[in-house]
Amino acid sequence: MKYCYHCGAENMDTASFCASCGTNIISTGYAPPQVATPIQEEKAKDEKLAMPETYLWQSVLVTILCCMPLGIIAIINSAQVETRYYAGNYSGAESASRNARNFAIAGLITGAVISILYIALFFFGALGSLNIFNDYYQY
Ligand SMILES: [Zn+2]
Repeated sequence: MKYCYHCGAENMDTASFCASCGTNIISTGYAPPQVATPIQEEKAKDEKLAMPETYLWQSVLVTILCCMPLGIIAIINSAQVETRYYAGNYSGAESASRNARNFAIAGLITGAVISILYIALFFFGALGSLNIFNDYYQY
């Protein structure tokens, strides 16, 4: 079988001109079918698309360590990254990944601020009671 280099149509080996478009194919000889290449490239591109980061362990950490509501929202988004990715919804998976990251970060920041406040309150509280203690014994 001979393929027309101009339109890709199959022609008899003995044909001099393409039956489909009339191009002279006797001088060009065999030309591989042009149709198959783009499909193969598209497939390879699909396989290369990696799943976006789920931020699952970060979300779980936030839930356990400090901020239940923020952590749970992050976990829900983490789960959606996988669900949407395997459903072929790449842009949806990416936006879920961004949400998971944002809520995990928000949770971590909130947790850090609360921890610092606790430490500060404990520290100043301890100092305060120490002063009162000293004052009491000075007189
Ligand atoms: Zn042709």
